[in-house]
Amino acid sequence: MARTLMLCAVGTLEQAEACANTPTYRLEVRTSERQQAVLYLCSAHIHRAWYLGQLALDRKFPGENVFVRSIHLHQLPRAAAAEAAL
Ligand SMILES: [Zn+2]
Repeated sequence: MARTLMLCAVGTLEQAEACANTPTYRLEVRTSERQQAVLYLCSAHIHRAWYLGQLALDRKFPGENVFVRSIHLHQLPRAAAAEAAL
């Protein structure tokens, strides 16, 4: 698998913001309709998980009025995070 540059998702979700941090967490956001989105956030932005998860859903399912019902958080292993940053 090719190595891809992975950054905190804030920059892709919020046009006014950018974040060059390596993500520390993998977030799975789910709706009551079983739709889901996955995003990666750094430790500085994890406290906005709910809000950013909603943005990710809005982007993935435009016009569908989807709402975050649950968030599942996985801390990335340190090695994986480092590799993702290469
Ligand atoms: Zn960040």
